[in-house]
Amino acid sequence: GRGSVLNANGSVEMDAGIMDGSDLSAGSVGAVRYVRNPILLAEHIRQQGLHVLLVGEGALDLARSLALQLEEEDYFIVEKRRQQLKALQGTDKLALDYDVSEDSDAAQDTVGAVARDCYGNLAAATSTGGLMNKKLGRVGDSPIIGAGVFADNQSCGISATGHGEEIMRVVLAKRIADTMELLDCELSVALDRGMQYFTERVSGRGGVIAIDKHGTCCSRYTTRHMVHGWIEKGGEAVYCL
Ligand code: ASP
Repeated sequence: GRGSVLNANGSVEMDAGIMDGSDLSAGSVGAVRYVRNPILLAEHIRQQGLHVLLVGEGALDLARSLALQLEEEDYFIVEKRRQQLKALQGTDKLALDYDVSEDSDAAQDTVGAVARDCYGNLAAATSTGGLMNKKLGRVGDSPIIGAGVFADNQSCGISATGHGEEIMRVVLAKRIADTMELLDCELSVALDRGMQYFTERVSGRGGVIAIDKHGTCCSRYTTRHMVHGWIEKGGEAVYCL
């Protein structure tokens, strides 16, 4: 939403995905403009169940037909992002929030969430503006089920952030969930294995937050920062800046 990173054309195109681990229903949107809360549109798609992923004009049309809140382009663009884009425009460089921001406070683009309800149902969601200076029409990992978002009651709920092209190439979230299920191992072990593969195979820059069916929370990242936190099993709030 507002404050999203800018693409090479200086506009905001957003991606979001959401998944319910109880029935594997999923909904996502890619390269969508003007929708104030892209995750709400993704959730409508999940509930409708007809499609999983809608992009661009089609996603926007659906938002209009659902009367979701739309905003002018100016609403989404903040000055800090204009400055960040200036430094990259005209180059082929892409930047992640965590790369361009020295302080973790400034790293506020992608939002991921994972949750478990009292019945043990898991869910995951990810929403982002993507990577700074990305090409027009580029869709990242966040709305790609199994890459930047995944939930299955049989293993875990996962949300990823980082360089989407690297996350997509290793299908990171699904790889971690499969590792957990097939090896019958703990979430932390599956995350270690998944992140090791991510690093070794594609020099992956990014991170994940995850929750398992017991409500155990876990995170790993290879970037400088990944602002995150959790409340585990009804306990204290824990956060890491
Ligand atoms: N993974 C996102 C993308 O590549 C960016 C991010 O997580 O900051 O679109």
